Amino acid sequence: MPQAEIGIFGGSGFYRFLENVEEVWVETPYGAPSDKVSLAEVEGRRVAFLPRHGRDHRLPPHRINYRANLWAMKELGVTRVIGPCAAGSLQPHVRPGDLVVSDQFVNRTWGREDTFYEGPIVTHISAADPYCPELRPLALEAAGQVGFRAHDGGTVVVVQGPRFSTRAESKEFQAQGWEVINMTQYPEVILARELGMCYLNLALITDYDVGLEGHPEVRPVSHQEVMRVFQENNDRLRELLQRLVARIPRERGCACGQALESARP
Ligand SMILES: [Zn+2]
Repeated sequence: MPQAEIGIFGGSGFYRFLENVEEVWVETPYGAPSDKVSLAEVEGRRVAFLPRHGRDHRLPPHRINYRANLWAMKELGVTRVIGPCAAGSLQPHVRPGDLVVSDQFVNRTWGREDTFYEGPIVTHISAADPYCPELRPLALEAAGQVGFRAHDGGTVVVVQGPRFSTRAESKEFQAQGWEVINMTQYPEVILARELGMCYLNLALITDYDVGLEGHPEVRPVSHQEVMRVFQENNDRLRELLQRLVARIPRERGCACGQALESARP
């Protein structure tokens, strides 16, 4: 089995990242991952890339086998997982084209397989700070260098989909002060943490969800609009990832890998 140290999940509109790849199908005890994993060298580092919806975008958010995807990364030796995604903004100051480096999530999904620990070993990991504190500042630096307007922290509310929100739902999320809405962050982030891997989210804002209060010209989100804005920013996101990969320290200085040690009663 080939090895990698950094894993990247491509989201909507982001199906390929690496050149000169070696492709592998990774078998997991949880079934098949979304696609073959592509491995290649980037800035002298071994990187694994997996499009979370499959490269032909055949898997809606609620049908993704998140456990198989994360297990495959772990199997390849990955210790850091980067999860870029398309996302909606819930607050006026977070604009389409911006990048949010999330630091919290709220889960509003249901029925998804969201743990590796189903007994007989009982495990409760802390989710207080799910996003890696070492990777977040590095991502913000790299984002600034390639010209993204980047936000340091933000709460992403993860909804089940595949439909977008009603106005009432979106209003509720806005009133909570949450910044970002998405359909795939949960359980991706928490499964990475259960396996002791660092997780970083880069939420590329493509729209204002149902629109913007007082701005009737801002139309509710459509899938076409998500893809359009994502394509516009694709090159910049690739550039950001390349710079980020180069500056990730080889040794981990965070506690993400120790989550499991204190998790068992
Ligand atoms: Zn970490």
